[in-house]
Amino acid sequence: MKKQLTIALVAHDRRKNDMVNWALSHSEILIQHKLVCTGTTGSLIQQAFKDAGIEQAELICMHSGPMGGDAEIAAMVVRKEINLAIFLIDDLNPQPHEADIQMLLRQCRVHNVPIACNQFSADLMITSELWDNDSYVPKIPQYKDFIR
Ligand code: PGA
Repeated sequence: MKKQLTIALVAHDRRKNDMVNWALSHSEILIQHKLVCTGTTGSLIQQAFKDAGIEQAELICMHSGPMGGDAEIAAMVVRKEINLAIFLIDDLNPQPHEADIQMLLRQCRVHNVPIACNQFSADLMITSELWDNDSYVPKIPQYKDFIR
């Protein structure tokens, strides 16, 4: 991929192994981009890259998710600072920060930011050729009637 993206990576506790394995399997791609992670997810990915002898990616850790990390990333989405989000949610257990999770999902939808919530979607999005296709312009949702 020619373009450098800013990619948000967030995984709930029971999905962190999946996220680390996914990041390792796509490390050659990920190290070319900027990664923005919630606290624990980011430190686990950093450690896994180090253990595997992978060149360190440019990786920023925000607060831990339940302490506001999802909310910080949602704010970045609003400011158009995130190109792609990979968000591995634990769908089988309640989360204390459900409101922040919904906020992140909603802001990605509102601002037309691709968000993958499972590994198949993440695989498709990270390998998509559309990123480098200059003739492809994503259609921005029109909210004029709502914000009048
Ligand atoms: P964490 O946050 O990476 O700090 O665990 C993820 C989340 O629970 O949203």
